[in-house]
Amino acid sequence: MPAVVLVGAQWGDEGKGKIIDYLAAEADVVVRYQGGNNAGHTVWAGGRQFKLRLIPSGILYPGTICVIGHGVVVDPRVLVEELDYLERQGVDTSGLRISPAAHLILPYHVALDEAEEDRKGAGRIGTTRRGIGPAYMDKFARVGLRVEDLLEEEVFLEKLAAQVAEKNALLERVYGLPPFKVEEIAAAYLPLAERIRPYVANTVTIVSEAVESGKNVLFEGAQGTLLDIDFGTYPYVTASHPIAGGACVGAGIGPTAIDRVIGVVKAYTSRVGEGPFPTELHDEVGQWIRERGQEYGTVTGRPRRIGWLDLVMVRYARRLSSLTDLALTRLDTLAGLDRIKVCVAYRDRETGEETREFPIGLRALARMEPVYVEMEGWGEEVARATRYEELPAAARRYVELVEEVAGVPVSILGIGYDRQQTIHRRPIFVPRGR
Ligand code: GDP
Repeated sequence: MPAVVLVGAQWGDEGKGKIIDYLAAEADVVVRYQGGNNAGHTVWAGGRQFKLRLIPSGILYPGTICVIGHGVVVDPRVLVEELDYLERQGVDTSGLRISPAAHLILPYHVALDEAEEDRKGAGRIGTTRRGIGPAYMDKFARVGLRVEDLLEEEVFLEKLAAQVAEKNALLERVYGLPPFKVEEIAAAYLPLAERIRPYVANTVTIVSEAVESGKNVLFEGAQGTLLDIDFGTYPYVTASHPIAGGACVGAGIGPTAIDRVIGVVKAYTSRVGEGPFPTELHDEVGQWIRERGQEYGTVTGRPRRIGWLDLVMVRYARRLSSLTDLALTRLDTLAGLDRIKVCVAYRDRETGEETREFPIGLRALARMEPVYVEMEGWGEEVARATRYEELPAAARRYVELVEEVAGVPVSILGIGYDRQQTIHRRPIFVPRGR
C-alpha cells in the first residue's frame, strides 16, 4: 500500500513542485487535499515549463489519475482556464477527477478577501487575495456552494441568490463596495459547469480503491506546515490543513492507510507575510540568498523574508506529520557562502532556557532567539553531483546535521532547479516494513 503524503515542512515555497513532479512520474494517482489556486507549482516536463495552480502536476504524465479532493476549494474560472491552457499545450486532461463536495470560490469571495486585507492595513494576513479564506469561511459556516451545486442550475441559482444577498449586505454596508448581481455571476459561471461536469466523480471511492489495490498514490500538500490553520503561526496562516493529517480529512482516507510522509525542507528558510521569524537575516547575507534564490513572490513580486535553516521548526513538522523522510532542496542556492549557520535550538530571551521544542503561540515564538551551529560552506560543484557521495564533504556534513537534529533521514536532495539535479538516496514508493 504505497500511499505517500508530501508536505511542506516550513512556510511554503520549499520547492515542493519539483519533488512532486519527480514522484508523480512513479505515481498512479496524485491527489490534492487542501488549499486552492494559491499553490503555484512551476514544473519542467519534456523541456517545457508548465505553471499550474490547481490541477496536480501529475496531469503531465499520460495515464495518471489526478484528483481534486473534498478539502480543496475550487475557483471554477481558474479551473477552466487551467484546463484550456493544458489542452492548448497538447496535454491530455482526461485523467482529472474532481470531488462534487469540493467548495466553490465565487467572485464575492475574492472581493471580500481583498476588502478584508485592505481594511486590516498593516495588520493584514498577507493572503493571496484569491478568495480562498472567505470560501473556507462559508464552508465552515455551512453556507458554501459546492461543485455538485454548480452542476444543477436550479440549485445553483437558489443558493447563489441567498449568498449574494448576504454578501452584498457586507460589501455595501461594512466595506462601502459595489454589490454583485446574481444574473451576472450565473451568466459567467453556469456555462463553466458543462466544461467541468465530465471530470466530476466520486473521489473517495477512486482514492480508496487505488490505495487498497496497492497502487502508488501520492497526496500533495500545498503551502507548508507553519501555515496550518491550527498548528501554524496563527493568524498568519492559511485557511486549511497543509499537514499530513489534512490528507485524511481532505481526501477521505484514514491515517493507517498512509505509508510514508515526506517533508520538503529548503536548505534555508523563507516566508511571505508577517509574523515572528527567529532565524531571519536582515543583512547582506540574507539579501545575497534572496537574489541567488530569486525569492520573490510569484504573483506579487514581493521580496520574501529570508533566514537560516531552522531545525527546531523541522522537528516540529516531524511531530505534526509523523515525517518518515525529508527532501532537502536548494543546496545549490547556498553554494558560495564561506560560513553557513543552522539553528539547532531556541533560547528563551526572558528565562534564558534552551529548548528544541517549537513553542505554541506567536508571543512565545517572538521571545525565542536561535542557537546556531556554524558550519563551513561549499562551492558550485554541489550542483554537478550525481550521487550523494559526490557532494562536497561540507554539504554532506550539513545533510547529516539535519538528519541528526530533525531525527528524520534525508532521502531526496535538490541541487538545482532541473529535474536531473535531484539525488535519491532511498526509493520512496516501497512500503516500509511494519
Ligand atoms: P513550492 O511552493 O514549494 O511548490 O515551490 P516551487 O515548486 O514553486 O519551487 C520554487 C522554485 O524553486 C521553482 O522555480 C523551482 O524550480 C525551484 N527549485 C526547486 N528545487 C530546487 C533546487 O533544489 N535548487 C534550485 N536552484 N531551485 C529549486
